[in-house]
This record gives sequence, structure tokens and C-alpha cells, in this order.
Amino acid sequence: MNHEQVIALRKTFNTVRQRHNQNNFKDFGNRRRRLREARELCVGNEELLKQAIENLQKNGIKVHLVKEKQEAIDTILSEIGDEKLVVKSKSNVTKELELTKSLGRKGIEVVETDIGDRIMQILGTTPSHPTGPVSHLSAKEIARELSGHYNKPINDNPDEIVKIVREDVISSIGNAKVGLTGANAITADEGSIVLTHNEGNISEVMRKDKHIVVTSIDKIYPDIESAINMLKILSYNATGSIIPSFVEIITGVSKTADVEKKFIKGVHGASEITVILVDNKRSQLALNGFRELLYCIGCGNCLLYCPMYNTIGNEYAEDNYLGGKGLAYQSLYNDEVNGKLKLCLTCGKCKENCPLDLDIPSMVRKIRSEGISSEVYYFLKSHMIWMYYQAMLRLKP
Ligand code: SF4
Ligand code: SF4
Repeated sequence: MNHEQVIALRKTFNTVRQRHNQNNFKDFGNRRRRLREARELCVGNEELLKQAIENLQKNGIKVHLVKEKQEAIDTILSEIGDEKLVVKSKSNVTKELELTKSLGRKGIEVVETDIGDRIMQILGTTPSHPTGPVSHLSAKEIARELSGHYNKPINDNPDEIVKIVREDVISSIGNAKVGLTGANAITADEGSIVLTHNEGNISEVMRKDKHIVVTSIDKIYPDIESAINMLKILSYNATGSIIPSFVEIITGVSKTADVEKKFIKGVHGASEITVILVDNKRSQLALNGFRELLYCIGCGNCLLYCPMYNTIGNEYAEDNYLGGKGLAYQSLYNDEVNGKLKLCLTCGKCKENCPLDLDIPSMVRKIRSEGISSEVYYFLKSHMIWMYYQAMLRLKP
């Protein structure tokens, strides 16, 4: 990430922090406590997972519980069938599976429908925030790159950029028969899929003939109330708004029996819904003493306050694994310490600003440490690097 991109990133992060200060979220402490309790109850709870699967199935939703990455990809491919175009909304699990690349190799085009994700897809860049993937790019830089892609001049007015990308996305949504989304929560009591978004794109994607939901086993919540509590915290931390523009609760396919009581599926929405619940080493992580890492709701608030991330941006990240939390997860996932994890200052700013109070610095120490002397070494080295780049940022015009 270059100097301009770090500045753009800081500017975006500042905007969110200002919104946090303006929007007083009443009862935040109590809500955080409830969220933590829900995560402690659900993550790694096989009984609740079983209950969620049974209730989804009772609601006419097909479910696959898959262990490994390749099994997940093969299952998604078989659900897509002969279709060659899939419209997709934001899903961190599909990024983890590198799904778009795998589907592309089979001749299936995947079009992102979230504006930021579509820009990222066209530009071939990596995200800088879980819910604001192009936070590091200025409108000027985006316009320059898009002009090349669309082969016409696009000015750097954000309205125009959004309009052009939106037209591109709408045309793909119109042509696709398969919509693929993630899920913010799956509720055990009701067997519901809960999704949130601000753009409105998910409302379109989930109405395609077939809706495939790709999510992970750690997204189980006891009930809709606890899922909504999580969504409010997620929305506030990610954007500064207390409630997102849209919350979708899906508890079955679109259907009617209005004519002669004949049961017809797929009226205004999908006639088929499939949920793919991916493990992909999560059970192993939970058993190996890192269960707490799976409590993360992906709000990105830790990044807003991480001094290293605010100084070198996604140089302190690996693909979709951003900042200390992401790099810790990626190291455990690959069974190999990511070299960038050594940049963590273990300052604790992430923990302080995490709604779940996740102790990222302790996890980082546990993962990377080969003893006290190595921790002292990493501490000194990371602080020197950080001070050097801080000085560089101040020197630049
Ligand atoms: S402890 Fe590491 S990951 Fe957390 S805020 Fe500090 S530098 Fe960032
Ligand atoms: S670690 Fe905490 S602050 Fe960071 S994304 Fe996860 S829940 Fe949000």
C-alpha cells in the first residue's frame, strides 16, 4: 500500500470514528455482554449446530455440512449445476475458500454485486477492511482504473463511479439464475438465515431461482433476537450506524397456494435454497485453544484503532486476512506463522476496541513466540518499524 492509499485509509477510518462519536449507542455495554454470552454458548456447540440444521431442513432448506475446503468447492459446483453465471454478495467464507478463482477455472463467471467488492474485483486488488474493501483507494484512483476497464472516461465523482458500477452489476443480476450469498447468522431455534446489507444488492441476489448460502459453522446463534443484537453491534462498529438499511430473515423458499390451493414455489423469490456450512479447520482451531478467535463477528473495529494497520495499511495483512486478528487466524489455518505477524506491537488497542473483548495480543504472542527473548526481539523490532513508517508519513507532503 503506498503513501496515498494509507492516507485514504486513515481518512475513511476517521469518518467511521466520527460517526461513532455522533451516534450514541444506548445500552452498548449490555448488548456487548449479551453478544459475548451468545458466542460463548454457540461457537463449537455441536448440539446447537445440529438443532440449526434440523430446523433449516424442516423449513424446506437444503443443508450441506462440509469439512474441508475442496469438499466445499465441489459441493458449491454441484449446486450451481450447468449455470455459467453466478451473482454474489459479500461473503468472507467464499474469500477464504478462494471460490471465485475455483469457479472461474470451471468456466463459471462470478460477479460481485456489492459496489466495493465489484470495484475490487475489476481492479484486481485486495481488501483493506472487511466491510469497506476499497477504503484505501481514493475516488481519483478508482476512476482512473475503471476508465481503463470500461474503456471510457469516468470522472472522479463518487456518484458517477457508483452509477457506472451499479449499471454493470444490475445487468449481471438480470441475466443470472443463481445467487450466492454469505450469512451473518443461522439461528438454531427458528432455522433462519439472517443477512444484513446497506446497498440492497442482497435483496436482489437472494431472489434468483436458486439461492446458495455459503457460511461457516461458527455463525450459529441461539435465536433471531440474539442474531439481531449482533447485527446492531456489527453495523455500529463497521459503519457508525446503529441499524443497517436492510436485514433479511429467510426461513423458507418463496411460495404460494393462492390458486386452487395448488402449492407453487418461486413466486417472487428463490424456489430453492441451499445452505453450505463450512468447517474448514474451525473445529480443530477450537480444540487447539483458539476457540475465542471464532467469536469474531468481522466488524473491523480493531483495524480502525490498530497503530500498525494505520501506518502501513494492508502490508500488515495477507490477502483477505487483515491486521493482527486476520494474520493470527491465517497462521493457525496454515499451521505456519505468517512473517507479518511479527509486526504486531502487542499494544492491545484491538482488544480495547473489540466488542467481544478478544485478546488478540495474547493470541499473537502465543502463536509467534519461541520464548521470552524472541518476544522482546519482536517487540523492539515492531516498534522500530512502526516509528520509522510513522516518521515517513509525517515527512511526506
Ligand atoms: S496488538 Fe497488534 S493487532 Fe492489536 S492493535 Fe496492537 S499492533 Fe494492532
Ligand atoms: S476481532 Fe473484534 S473488533 Fe476485530 S473484527 Fe473481530 S469482532 Fe470486530
